[in-house]
Order: sequence, then C-alpha cells, then structure tokens
Amino acid sequence: MRVASGHLAQRTMGFTESVIREMTRLCAQYGGINLAQGFPNFAAPAAIKDAAKRAIDDDINQYAITWGAKSLRDRIAHAYEELYGMAVDPETMVTVTCGSTEAMISTLLALCEAGDEVIVLEPFYENYGPDAAIAGAVPVFVPLRPPAFAFDPDELRAAFTSRTKAIIVNTPNNPTGRVFTRAELEVIAGLSREHDVICVTDEIYEHIRYDGPHIPIATLPGMAERTVTISGASKTFSVTGWRVGWIVAPPELTGGIRKVHDFVTVGAPAPLQEAVAAALSLGSGYYDRLAVEYRARRDVLVRGLDSAGFAPNRPEGAYYVLCDIRPFGFDDDTEFAHWLIRDVGVAGVPGSSFFSRRELGRHLIRFTFCKTEELLEEASRRLLGARERARRRV
Ligand code: GLN
Repeated sequence: MRVASGHLAQRTMGFTESVIREMTRLCAQYGGINLAQGFPNFAAPAAIKDAAKRAIDDDINQYAITWGAKSLRDRIAHAYEELYGMAVDPETMVTVTCGSTEAMISTLLALCEAGDEVIVLEPFYENYGPDAAIAGAVPVFVPLRPPAFAFDPDELRAAFTSRTKAIIVNTPNNPTGRVFTRAELEVIAGLSREHDVICVTDEIYEHIRYDGPHIPIATLPGMAERTVTISGASKTFSVTGWRVGWIVAPPELTGGIRKVHDFVTVGAPAPLQEAVAAALSLGSGYYDRLAVEYRARRDVLVRGLDSAGFAPNRPEGAYYVLCDIRPFGFDDDTEFAHWLIRDVGVAGVPGSSFFSRRELGRHLIRFTFCKTEELLEEASRRLLGARERARRRV
C-alpha cells in the first residue's frame, strides 16, 4: 500500500534535498573532483586521531554527560578565555552537540515560539532556513550585496520587528568568504540590544581567515548576555564526520538549550569528545598553521578560477569562493553545475541554494578549497579548458 505524502507535516513541505550533498552524490557518480561539499580530503592532525584511539582503548564507550564531557567543556571554556578573553563557565555555559548543525537547530528550538521571526543574512548556509522552519519560526532575509557582500544598515534595521527573536550571524561567512568587521558587528549588536534580540552566531570557520582577526560578537559590549556562540571541531581539526560541535551561551539560555539537546540527541560521541579536548590543547601555533595552509589553498584555487575566466572574489575567511558563471554563457546555475560535473569533471554548488529568492543566485556557483593543493591544481587544469568547451557546446 502506498502511504500518501499527505501524512507529512506541513512545515517540511517546502524542504528540498540539500543541494550541497546532492552535488557530492552526483560528483561521485561521474568520478569528478568534489569542490562542492565543504569537507577536507586531507588527514586530521595525528594528535587528535591518537587521542581518539586512546579513548576507545580506554573504553570511553558509554554516554558522556548529556551537555558534554567535563574534560571537553573545561577545554572549550579555557580556549574562549585564552583566545578571546571571554569568561565562560564550563558548568553552566557550555553545551557539546552533534556538530554545529545540531547546535543551531537545538538553539532555535529552545528560543523560538511559533511565529517568531529570525533574521538571516542572505546568501546563507543552506541549513538556516529549514532550521528556522523546524523551530516554527519565520526566517526574514536581509541581503549581503555583492561585490562587497556587505549589508545595508538601514535595510537591516527595517528587518527588526516586535516579533524578531533572533538574528543568525555567520562569520567567517559561508558562502561569501566575508569576515565581518568590528564596525559591521557593532551595527548588528546595537540593533540586537535595542530590540532585545538574541544573536546566534555560527563561528565554525573562526580559525580559517586570511586578513583581520575573528571577533566573536559575544565580546562586544552588552552582548555576552544575549549571544549564543556556536562552533565546533569539524573545520578546525578537519574532522567533519565526527560530529562534535558546541554552544557557548549565558546560563539562562544554556539551561533551555541543554534540555532540547538532551531530548534530540542525548549527547555527542563520547570518545571523540575526549579527542577534541586533547586537540584543543594544541594551542595557537596550530591555528596559525591552519590559516597559513588554507591561505595557500585559497591562492591556488583563486588563481585557477581567475585563469579559467571566473573573475573570482578573494575570500577573507572560511574556505569557499563564489563565482559568476555568466562568462561561460550559462544563465542557470543548476544547469551549469550539472554540466561542469559531467563535461569538465569538477563539482561546485549552484548559487541559488544560498538564497531564499533563488533567482538572486542563478548566476553564481560556489567552489570550496578545503582540498590538497595537488587536487586544487588538477581542478584548475580541468577548469582552464571549460570556457572553450562551453563555447563549443552551443
Ligand atoms: N558546511 C559545509 C558546506 O557548506 C558542509 C555542509 C554539509 O553537508 N553539512 O559545504
């Protein structure tokens, strides 16, 4: 018997399959180079792998404390103090989650009433819209306008209403590569204070940046008490499949978030929490090296894209480049992305998947450079001939 899709909840009806993960599957099918989904193709640091093996050998196999193993919460609190001067009590302000993905959804579920509004800067990482919808909230989008991908302060102000519960800020930013300046963060902070709104910041790329410093919005005046800071091990330690993320928030908010987290996942993988705790002791030398290595990868890909005719922007942080596809004679991003996988052997993510008004991203494609320089060189070689190939196609 076929069960009618009418049984599905209304709130999931607008969801499409994650385009990022769809591109990964398509790429595997055609044997292409995957510059679509943001996961590294290189090894994690030996220290974190050794610590994971040790934890399993030591039979750390049962549930950790729901809101995170004490060893990890202690290291997280210490890291925020050391790196950013934030006062974080590991007992009342830290929740360890199954990746920053779970951190975001657990936070929104804990914060939002049905009908609340959540401001999202657009283009955005594709999870935020569905996250808000699952939490019963309404996402309100404010554009980051190219070429600088800056927001207009007046437009942002106009988006705040009496129903606004939270604003999601992602810096360093996926997909634009922006690292928001102190002045920009001050604008967001000022509006959040004025309208009594919670700032939920996704800082998963905090250590992957090339120019200015990373400024957690929680460190701005009056913001510690109204900021939920999200980060995790995935990008910093090249372990995206481990699913270890975390939330730093004031005790009152943490109390609510921990309850949601408990019922949703019980906890993140126990032995891997021990390993991440060990990795957090690697210290600032590790983070500096990470940024230097990513800068080299960025430069390889940006050079390759430039030679191929994409006129790419140079990201200030994170590991993505947004490119214009129009020089290739395409005006539909999905069509271009599919053609690129099939005929050129390189995968990217269609730009429209980062926009609520999909037409705003129709002329864009996102490539990631969290790959070895050799692979990026090979992708660049393939892309070099793409324009000619595209010309012959029509
Ligand atoms: N954050 C990564 C990206 O944007 C991975 C997304 C995912 O598949 N969870 O590509």
